Amino acid sequence: MKSLVIKDLHANIGDREILKGLSLTIEPGKVHAIMGPNGSGKSTLSKVIAGHPDYTVTGGEVLLDGENILCLAPDERARKGIFLAFQYPMEVPGVTIANFLRAAVAARLPEGEELEATDYYYRLYEKMDLLEMDRAFTSRSVNEGFSGGEKKRCEILQMAMLEPKYAILDETDSGLDIDALRIVSHGVNTLRSPDRGMLLITHYQRLLDYIVPDVVHVMVEGKIVLTGPKELALELEAKGYDWVKEDEAAAAAAR
Ligand code: ADP
Ligand code: MG
Repeated sequence: MKSLVIKDLHANIGDREILKGLSLTIEPGKVHAIMGPNGSGKSTLSKVIAGHPDYTVTGGEVLLDGENILCLAPDERARKGIFLAFQYPMEVPGVTIANFLRAAVAARLPEGEELEATDYYYRLYEKMDLLEMDRAFTSRSVNEGFSGGEKKRCEILQMAMLEPKYAILDETDSGLDIDALRIVSHGVNTLRSPDRGMLLITHYQRLLDYIVPDVVHVMVEGKIVLTGPKELALELEAKGYDWVKEDEAAAAAAR
C-alpha cells in the first residue's frame, strides 16, 4: 500500500478551521498539482503534513505507506521520507549550506553509519551543478541574503540531497524569473522517479508548463473541489477560479 494518503483532514490555526475535510492520495511515481486561490489553505496543507506546530489537526489522517504520521514529530516524518520545500524559506544566519545539508543527510543514516566527507561533497557538487548553483554557495549561510530564485534553488538542492519518498513543493515558482524557473523545473524533473511521489502547489499554471503533472486538483476554502487531468490547469488559467467556486456553491446548495 505505497502512497501518501490524506483522508478527510481537518486542521485549525487558533480556533479558525482552515482545512475542512481534505482528501488526496499521492502514489509513488506520480506528480500531483494543487492549484487554488490565495488563502484557500494550500500552504496550511503542506505544513500540516510536515508537522508544523502552529496548526492543530482536529480530524482525519495522513498515512505514509500505511502508517499514520500525524502523531510523529517533524524530524521523524522527514526521516520517514516526507520533504517540504517552503513557499517562504527561512534564513539561517551562521549555518552554511554545506554544514546544514551534511547534518540533514547524516541524521537520516542508520545508526552507526557515517557520512564520508568525500562522498558527501561529490554528491553535493553533482546536485549543485544540476541546479546551476555556484560552489561558493556551500560556504554561505542558508538563504541569508539570497534572491528569491536562489532560495528556491536551495530548497530543491535540499530535496536532491535528501531523496524523499514524497516531496511537497509549495509555490516553488513564486519569485522566480523565467531563467530561474527553467533551472528549478529542470532540477525537479530530474528528481522525478518511479519511487517518488510529488505534490506541486502553485497559484499559476505557468509552472505546470515546465513540470507537467499527472493529476491536477483545485483547492477552494480548505477542500479539494475538482480533480482532473493536466489540461485542467489550462482551463483554470483561462477561466480563473470563480467558476469552480460557483459550481461548488451550486453543488453545496443542491446537497
Ligand atoms: P494559501 O497557501 O492557499 O494562500 P494559506 O494556507 O497560507 O493559504 O492560508 C489559509 C488561511 O489561513 C488564510 O486565511 C491565512 O490568513 C490563514 N493563516 C495561515 N497561516 C496562518 C497563521 N500562522 N496565523 C494566522 N492565520 C493564518
Ligand atoms: Mg501559500
